[in-house]
Amino acid sequence: MIYLDNAGTTRLDDQVLDKMMPYLKEEYGNASSLHTMGQRAKEVLDDARERVARCINAKAKEIYFTSGGSESDNQAIISACRLGERKGKKHIITSKIEHHAVLHTLEKLEKQGFAVTYLDVYEDGIVKVEDLKKAIREDTCLVTIMFANNEIGTIQPITEIGKVCREKGVLFHTDAVQAVGHILVDVEKMNIDLLSMAAHKFHGPKGVGALYAKSNVLLSNLIEGGAQERGKRGGTENVAGAVGLAVALENAVADIDKVAQHEIALRDKLIKALLQIPHSALNGDKENRLPNNVNICFEGIEGESLLLLLDDAGICASSGSACTSGSLDPSHVLLAIGRPHEVAHGSLRLTLSKHTTEEEINKTIEIIPGVVELLRKMSPVWDQLQKGARKHVI
Ligand SMILES: *Cc1c(COP(=O)(O)O)cnc(C)c1O
Repeated sequence: MIYLDNAGTTRLDDQVLDKMMPYLKEEYGNASSLHTMGQRAKEVLDDARERVARCINAKAKEIYFTSGGSESDNQAIISACRLGERKGKKHIITSKIEHHAVLHTLEKLEKQGFAVTYLDVYEDGIVKVEDLKKAIREDTCLVTIMFANNEIGTIQPITEIGKVCREKGVLFHTDAVQAVGHILVDVEKMNIDLLSMAAHKFHGPKGVGALYAKSNVLLSNLIEGGAQERGKRGGTENVAGAVGLAVALENAVADIDKVAQHEIALRDKLIKALLQIPHSALNGDKENRLPNNVNICFEGIEGESLLLLLDDAGICASSGSACTSGSLDPSHVLLAIGRPHEVAHGSLRLTLSKHTTEEEINKTIEIIPGVVELLRKMSPVWDQLQKGARKHVI
């Protein structure tokens, strides 16, 4: 199999698993227990916290371990809104291309009387800082804008956004699940108050993540229980998971430039080759994008059919459209960058990793044009386009 779905999840590194194993086997103490085994587990947990903090230039006490990106997003947003509410501030600013962990949390808050402004991202998939400045109101309690998009890979101007938020005294959360471990993140320099990450997006284990909350930001609990995570998240600590997160993040940060160089070379080769296919277009900005992200629309085909045929050919890919539960809605991200519905349906996301080889990319480049051609031959939409009964948009 050629695995090109690394924005979905990544392969756990063997070395990360090796470092986790002792805490799943012999050293299984509960980090909240007072005996020696428990205290040993607590030391390991605190060490992992310190190491995660160092990777993003935070303090250990500002790191809370969670179950992953979604939980961190939920807790960050809800905490900021509870703080805002107390001061009568019930306005939130976000972008149109956030992950559903953010968008669905905001929808819930809208039902509770919060107002949400959704910033446009234009054709390049990037918010304009000027728009943000204009959108900030007296009652704005939170700006939540993702660091890098999971579908089209575009990177937002986080440093500038952080600066504006700090000047205006508004809390700034960023869903950095696609960024952490792939591009350098410095919460101090970037004026970030709250940040979400997930280990499985950078070769760590699934089901563990972290929420960074600046020391002056009081978190609200999503999970009530014991006094774990300084009272902010009940539940027995996932010591092995925390170690896996820390090791995977340190490895990713240590190799960040080397891996980016490797991925960018393959990414650009792939983009160049796929754009040779007639009536295809790259989604998202060419420069300001994650080193590993390729997302392309092909006119006249269905992304889902393309995925199935690629799967048969041994390529694991993803479509931009989130037709997960059989819903036919095209991706909100592709609609936000101005792709018409029918074009948004024909998109393909290929995301690379440090393990992706040139041979795999060459093979992918060989396979895709034929599959697109085959699907177009069977497509009524393509037929209409060919006969001029419908106009090409790309
Ligand atoms: C994967 C992802 C999430 C969700 O993370 P989980 O660990 O799966 O809960 C949130 N935001 C973005 C941008 C992601 O890519």
